[in-house]
Amino acid sequence: MADCIFCKIAAKEIPSNFVYEDDLVAAFKDTNPQAPVHVLIIPKKHVKSLLELDGSDKELTAHIFCEVIPKIAAELGVAESGFRLVANTGKDGQQTVEHLHFHLIGGRSLTWPPG
Ligand code: 5GP
Ligand code: ZN
Repeated sequence: MADCIFCKIAAKEIPSNFVYEDDLVAAFKDTNPQAPVHVLIIPKKHVKSLLELDGSDKELTAHIFCEVIPKIAAELGVAESGFRLVANTGKDGQQTVEHLHFHLIGGRSLTWPPG
């Protein structure tokens, strides 16, 4: 989608620090990391938020959850220590980039609850 920063990152029009990529999904380091490990996992196709997924995205979401996330967590060394997966959604969820993304955050003991 034109003017979407994460579409541009997925298309390599904007450089980013990729940690994973396949035909459907890209993952790259957040530019403002909140922990030693902080990556963003996105579908390459433009999806505005979690609420815009539909039945046609079952294969994509299963791929992200069952294959991509465990693989990235293992490769970044947080599968055993643990991590947090966050999908900020909409205004109250403080979603600032309107292209679906999952924050994978770890590498230190995280506080809870969020503010
Ligand atoms: P949100 O607040 O929408 O859940 O998260 C958006 C995230 O994207 C923020 O953590 C922010 O630091 C990150 N971000 C924004 N612009 C860029 C960018 O151009 N490149 C990368 N790698 N991360 C970005
Ligand atoms: Zn997009």
